[in-house]
Amino acid sequence: MHNHGINRREFGSLATAGLAGGLSCFMATDGRSESPAGSIIEEPSRRTPVVAEVDVVVAGGGPAGFVAAIAAARMGMRTLLFERYGFLGGGLTAGGVLNIRPFHVAPGKVLMDGIPLEYVRRLEKLGATRFIPGDYIPVQQDREVSKFVIQEMVLEAGVELLLHSYLVGAMRDKDQVTTVLVENKSGRRAIRGKVFVDCTGDADLAWHAGAPWVKGDAEGNLQPMTLAFAMSHVDRPPDEATTPQDKKAIRGTYTSGGFVPMIAPDEVYANAMHIHADCTDARDLTRAEIEGRREVMRLFDVLRQRAPGYKNARLRYTATQIGARESRRIVGDYTLRAEDVFGLADFDDAVCRGHHPVDVHGKPGQPGVVYKHLEPGTSYAIPARCLLPQGVDNLLAAGRCISADREALGSSRVTGTCMALGQAAGTIAALAAKRSCPARDVPFEETKKALAAHVGARDHVT
Ligand SMILES: Cc1cc2nc3c(=O)[nH]c(=O)nc-3n(C[C@H](O)[C@H](O)[C@H](O)COP(=O)(O)OP(=O)(O)OC[C@H]3O[C@@H](n4cnc5c(N)ncnc54)[C@H](O)[C@@H]3O)c2cc1C
Repeated sequence: MHNHGINRREFGSLATAGLAGGLSCFMATDGRSESPAGSIIEEPSRRTPVVAEVDVVVAGGGPAGFVAAIAAARMGMRTLLFERYGFLGGGLTAGGVLNIRPFHVAPGKVLMDGIPLEYVRRLEKLGATRFIPGDYIPVQQDREVSKFVIQEMVLEAGVELLLHSYLVGAMRDKDQVTTVLVENKSGRRAIRGKVFVDCTGDADLAWHAGAPWVKGDAEGNLQPMTLAFAMSHVDRPPDEATTPQDKKAIRGTYTSGGFVPMIAPDEVYANAMHIHADCTDARDLTRAEIEGRREVMRLFDVLRQRAPGYKNARLRYTATQIGARESRRIVGDYTLRAEDVFGLADFDDAVCRGHHPVDVHGKPGQPGVVYKHLEPGTSYAIPARCLLPQGVDNLLAAGRCISADREALGSSRVTGTCMALGQAAGTIAALAAKRSCPARDVPFEETKKALAAHVGARDHVT
């Protein structure tokens, strides 16, 4: 039996290495000891080159981050986006996720608009989608083509891009983040900005900057992780991943979602395991990757041995990294609640809308998935306040790490909603940089107008 390493809900804490004049360099800690002996070393102080000074800095190039960076750059702000991998897309590419949810709330009723819709249309033109916008179904995307389309959209918007760059620290002057520190092949580098947007999924930037965060439920439970994988050379029906015979043969051999037909007629995607681990703990994450890969090979073997359609199947890819459904969430000016999702809440400062079911995967020993659906045609709003971490003036969060309770996150964490949140965060960040004011002081009327301008942009896509 594994020690899952998760035994209590954790709240953000920080240790301040005192510097003169209110300037602080935060040493991020999360209350978990990675050093069983409790030993600490003191690093020598160092001089770090500043490689960019921009208006808006976006950390992480997933669905939230790439859209946030495009939104800010299109508003005329000098914007830098950095990402730890050599390509953009996050869950959509590195995570191997196929289906962008939710694009629609009912047939023909589009929920996502602006830059996210533009991205899907560009994929469509390259034959890299399975379902077209307009249907009440998710839009399936080809992750390899997505890597290209996202990169081109970001560069066309004029975003400065820094790949292979891992966030390792943040510096603050009172309520302002002043600098982020990244490490890459060039060494340790500093990036200075007026406004920062945390799109790391795990609130890494908020954590490094000493902003408040929470993780897990009262018992410390987190939703399980999954290493997604895909297979080719599968003999399957046109719109199904398995025949009834295949289904019967593999019943009871996997946990979680299951198998999904991909764009190519012989390919199948699998989201079929639950690994209980905390992705913000390096040792736990290592164990999760090891267990995930073993589980992929076990499942692949089961499929080939038992399911007739899979007897010649080949393993096409595994995700670049095991996927997390839940980790740190910021504590914002407002926390989106399950009641808001089910009550189809509206807010005076609504910046986007969600429709995905509340989808909270099981605790250890409970493999099931809790799905609580919203009625077709309905949606709930997410207010700008969920993107604003308390106590910091020039930091926003978008995507999976916004301020939400666990059930609300079970709905808002999907890629379509994350893109819409990124569009809102990039827009507010650009307005705050332009006005040199705290992000929470940007008049909502201005945000609304700027968001409407992004939506209008889709008509110019050729
Ligand atoms: C198994 C699984 C299946 C899923 N299925 C679906 C689905 O069918 N449909 C759907 O819509 N959603 C699905 N999701 C949810 C969805 O993939 C994520 O919630 C979503 O991608 C979150 O978007 P994000 O932009 O907040 O974060 P991410 O997609 O995680 O992007 C974060 C980006 O930041 C980068 N980054 C992180 N930390 C650092 C750092 N320290 N320094 C530099 N860069 C960093 C990452 O490399 C990444 O590119 C699934 C999730 C999982 C785990």
